[in-house]
Amino acid sequence: MHNEIKYEGKGKALYSTDTPGQLIQKFKDDTTAFDGKKHAVVTGKGVLNCAISSWFFERLHEAGIASHYIRRESADCMRIHELHMLPVEVVVRNMAAGSICRRLGLEEGLKLARPLTELFYKSDALGDPMINTEHAVLFGWATAEQLDTMRELARRINRLMCDILQDAGIVLVDFKLEFGLLDGKVVLGDEITPDGCRLWDAQTGQKLDKDVFRRDLGGLSEAYHEVAHRLGIEGVA
Ligand code: UDP
Repeated sequence: MHNEIKYEGKGKALYSTDTPGQLIQKFKDDTTAFDGKKHAVVTGKGVLNCAISSWFFERLHEAGIASHYIRRESADCMRIHELHMLPVEVVVRNMAAGSICRRLGLEEGLKLARPLTELFYKSDALGDPMINTEHAVLFGWATAEQLDTMRELARRINRLMCDILQDAGIVLVDFKLEFGLLDGKVVLGDEITPDGCRLWDAQTGQKLDKDVFRRDLGGLSEAYHEVAHRLGIEGVA
């Protein structure tokens, strides 16, 4: 099937293909939290994440937002353009949850007056520390112009995703994006799945994302199935 493995992370693996510049991104059933200290295999999660991520990348493409996505290759694999990844993660928050609550003493669920973007340096060894624009530019992780583009794209993606999810009765609390360079241009990479988003039922507040696993709140694949079902996503088995 694919050629050699180029990278293996906690939730995904990348394989080379016979076409230069194209890779296969495989979504794994492995699920980790707390810097890998908590681990489980959730059967079917790879297929769900591949279906959800492919679906969102297609919606973004329709809205004119470029990404590494080419097509869904199989149940749990996406064909992508190989990017030169920038080691800066962008988190967008609409409500307070997770690390911002621990850091600033905010109550979970506090609605933010406007979407907030935060930057994190992608380093497993350092536990992805929060950084600002000056750190990223000073240490050469991205240029000021690239960071402006990343933040602007992240805000546009947030608006689109909020609208789509609202129609499905889901609140987009926060999410994480990663970007890379394709022919020198900043484009969206990585994934858009409930592993990297906080999604709450609009009526009940029920969590439909990886917090279900982090906090032992029930079945993870049931929650992800619910998200896929409400969005009308097919091919989730
Ligand atoms: N996130 C992620 N990968 C990371 C860190 C965060 O996908 O390495 C996502 C996380 O799922 C949440 C958002 O980014 O939707 C904000 O995460 P936060 O900073 O609150 O950290 P956490 O509470 O996940 O430790």
